[in-house]
Parts: sequence; C-alpha cells; structure tokens
Amino acid sequence: MKTDDQTSLTHFADRLADYFSCHNVYLFSKGRIALYAALKAMGIGEGDDVLLPGYTCVVVPAAIKRLGARPVYADVDEATYNLSLNSLKEKITPACKAVLLQHTYGIPCDAGPIIDWASAHSLRCLEDCCHALGSTYKGRLCGTLTEAAFLSGQWNKPFTTGLGGMLVVNNPELDAAVRPVYETIDAPRAMMETRLRIQQILYRYAVNPRSVMAVTSMYRFASSAGVMIGSSSDDELCGEFDPKDILRMARCQASLGLKQMNGVQRNIEHRKTIAAFYREALSEFDSHPTDESLAGETVFLRYPLRVSNKSNLLNMAYRKSREIGTWFESPLHPLNKKWELFDYQAGSCPVSERLSQETINLPTHPGISLNEAEAIVRFIHHHSEPAQSHNLSM
Ligand SMILES: *Cc1c(COP(=O)(O)O)cnc(C)c1O
Repeated sequence: MKTDDQTSLTHFADRLADYFSCHNVYLFSKGRIALYAALKAMGIGEGDDVLLPGYTCVVVPAAIKRLGARPVYADVDEATYNLSLNSLKEKITPACKAVLLQHTYGIPCDAGPIIDWASAHSLRCLEDCCHALGSTYKGRLCGTLTEAAFLSGQWNKPFTTGLGGMLVVNNPELDAAVRPVYETIDAPRAMMETRLRIQQILYRYAVNPRSVMAVTSMYRFASSAGVMIGSSSDDELCGEFDPKDILRMARCQASLGLKQMNGVQRNIEHRKTIAAFYREALSEFDSHPTDESLAGETVFLRYPLRVSNKSNLLNMAYRKSREIGTWFESPLHPLNKKWELFDYQAGSCPVSERLSQETINLPTHPGISLNEAEAIVRFIHHHSEPAQSHNLSM
C-alpha cells in the first residue's frame, strides 16, 4: 500500500539522485548501513581486506567487519586530513579488494591519483561523503568521483534526516547488485518510526548553538540508557553487531531530508561564508590548502584547527557553551582504547594519531550566525595557541 509518506521516500531518493546526477539512490537507517550494503553488493566479505583512512568514525571499520572483511588503515596527509597515497602503497595487502576515500571535514580527497593506483591494482573505489556536501574535485561533486558514495543523515552532518543514511550509486552495474541487497533489508517498524519522529521534534526545540554542548551529552546519556535511539550502541563500539540494526530509512526521516534538500544551496552558501570568515580570522592557526592546490572546492562541514591545548580548550568551551567539536579524537573516533577490536594497531598511522590529539573543529552550519562565529574566534584567540607541529608549508 502506498501512503503519502511512502512517497516521501521515493521523492527524497529522486531529489538526491537529481542533486548528484547519479544513477540511483538507496535510503537506509544510517550511513554505516549504506556502506555495508555497497560493500556487500561489491561482493566483499570473509577473507577480503578494505583500505580506509585511519582517521574516521569507528562505525566505518565496524561496517567492514560486519561483512566478515578486515579494515586495513592507511595514514592521512597532514595538510588535508585525507588518505595519503604513499601510505596506501605501503599498507596494501594481497587480500585488498577496495579503497574507501573519505572527504574529511568536507575537504575533497585528491581522488585522481588514488583512483588510478587503485585501478592498477584491481581495487574498487567508493567514497565516504559523510562530511562533504557540495565540495568538488576537478569540477565534479564529491560523491560522484567513484562507483558509489555514502552519506550520513546524523544530526551533525551536512544536513540531517534525524539519523539516516544514503547510498549514491554512480555505476549501473553496481546498481544491479545493490538492488537485490536492498530488497532483503526491512523497513523500520511503526514503533521505531514513532520514536524517530519524537526525537526529531525534541531536536528541533532543544538544540541551538548555546545549548548544543549540553544537549549532546544528555542525548549520549539517554541513548546509552536505552531511552533514545542513539547513533551508536555500546555493543557496537565493542565490535558486536545486531542484525536488527540493518534497516531501510524511515518515512519521517525521508520527509525531513526532503525539507533539508530544499534549503541545500543556502546551507552550502552559509557554510562557505562562515568558513571564509574563520580562515581569515584564524589564519595563524591553520593554513588549509587552497582550492587551487586541491583542484577543487571545499565546503567545510566543520572547520578544523590544530591547537596546543585541545582537551583544556574543549573543557572551557563546554563551560562557556561554545560549540567547538572534537572530531576526530582518535584514529577510530570516539574509541580511545580497544582499537584492536577493529584491527587498528596503535602507532600504525602516526600522522592521524597526532592530528587527533591536536585537532578541534568549528561549526559552519546554518545555526551559526556571523556574530556567533566572531564570538568563537574571540574565544579561540583568548584561550588557545596553534599546535607546535602545525605545518605552514602548504
Ligand atoms: C558520521 C560518519 C559516518 C557514519 O555515519 P552514520 O550515519 O552515523 O552511520 C561515517 N563516516 C564519517 C566520516 C562520519 O563522519
């Protein structure tokens, strides 16, 4: 039976397919489930290795392990926070089947040389586009550079569906393999749909730039207590998987996504304005690569900075209700220990480990006015200094 809401799923998928001019879009309960479905459609499973940056959310390697495959981490480039081709060349194993390119903070990954190298080694490529909406590389939208890309609709991503995940499929042959995988995945039940809807409403009223630090920690508490649907369960962070997590997107998530897509151009322009302001006002902290050197354009989801006193600064920000972010706290954010559960060996991505000690990030989203951005800049100038190691060579 097709209800009005059912069409919101179709409309949202169509809207995204239009935006990316891609072959097809599939909608899931989370970004990690979209990744899982894409890798499964690529035939990746037991005995296979997947290369990915050792500077990511732990749910990414968790999705790889859910398939029985093994995540193999390459280090990132100091200037771009993105995959280093040199490190990929060192880390590749005979069992590698695919490379996951992530556009960290929205900075486009230098995909050209990586894709060439990958195809010489018969590796499939796909993009983690969870930070990058509107960023381009050589004139093409991030998300359309490889066979497929996944996006997250979590609260703090480029736009939100109130949790949710999207798979952009660019290759028709891959699409033929994704469809049967998608067909085996259930839609969420009515109860789940209702809880997600309630969360959307709470979110709308509870979160503004001055409350977000406090609301986020209450949300984490409520979800670990099982009251709210969180972004990751404690079991998941211990490498345990519940097959019930593998779901399609709920209708209310698609409706919210559709609304957000209506404002997508404004959202992107806002992010560019705020990031340009940070860039100018905090130039002594970081020198992000220029658009020319990236051969692309960055739409920052969050604006990263390397500071000398990350944990103190975050504590002060919390007390003063300044929305300063901690991504990534570790190569497998937010895990600070038990990395071996996800096959990460301490010390194996030294650049990433140092970046995670030093990097904070500033908000660019539409809830941040230029006034608030100015207050954040004053706060940083007052309480922090650039990290010693930060490198101005780019
Ligand atoms: C948020 C995020 C994900 C996971 O998205 P979910 O929707 O939470 O599964 C994956 N990769 C990166 C880089 C992210 O920031």
